[in-house]
Amino acid sequence: MYIDSHCHLDRLDLTDFDNQLDNVVAAAKQAGVEQMLCVSVTLDAFQSMADKTAKYDNVQISCGVHPLNQEDMVDEARLEQLADNERVIAIGETGLDYFYAPETQEVQRDAFRKHIRVARKLNKPIIIHTRDAVEDTLQIMREEKADEVGGILHCFTESWDMAEQAIAMGFYISFSGIVTFKNAAALRDVASKVPDDRFMIETDSPYLAPVPHRGKQNQPAYVVEVAKMLSDVRAQSVEEIAQLSSDNYRCLFKLAT
Ligand SMILES: [Zn+2]
Ligand SMILES: [Zn+2]
Repeated sequence: MYIDSHCHLDRLDLTDFDNQLDNVVAAAKQAGVEQMLCVSVTLDAFQSMADKTAKYDNVQISCGVHPLNQEDMVDEARLEQLADNERVIAIGETGLDYFYAPETQEVQRDAFRKHIRVARKLNKPIIIHTRDAVEDTLQIMREEKADEVGGILHCFTESWDMAEQAIAMGFYISFSGIVTFKNAAALRDVASKVPDDRFMIETDSPYLAPVPHRGKQNQPAYVVEVAKMLSDVRAQSVEEIAQLSSDNYRCLFKLAT
């Protein structure tokens, strides 16, 4: 069985699914994807995301503000209050994205630090989004002692050097459909090097549909394609990839097997 370590169920266009989120979760189950983490991107949308997913025992949620959704400074007290809920197993997604929003670097860094502080206070792992911001991401992780709670570098696209440094701080590296893209040879090389007890798989759906579904809306069921690619590059069976990545997810979030 597979676990999708990162998806945005509340952002899917449900017209493909008879307007029922049930059908998304059922399609995932049909494909062997039995658990998923639905990741928060704004505090304003958090409650509705929590409500929409509340009836699914196999859907965990996070709480946080995406680095590209920061019109204002993050309200640390509000983040802590919303995240202090037993269904919330992780803080984020947070982090730094200098590729799409270099003009908000300072606000992003401030928010990232606040998320790590709240994560340590509530003792929950952190979901980190990082793009074109390697040095600052690692430096803030160190300065704010992110290693105390650990977490996931999600939708990883950076170098093995960065992966290694994050792993040393107790982080896991999660690969998305990007690893299936034709031009992603360097990323596949990174994916071949991550230790067995340090990788996860994700869709980041509805974005980034993997090959052979490119151009379509992504969904948790497609995480199987990410597992197939990792099976190729790591020379392990798909079953092994599924088992290891699921074990790693349960280990980080202290969930029963
Ligand atoms: Zn992200
Ligand atoms: Zn995401």
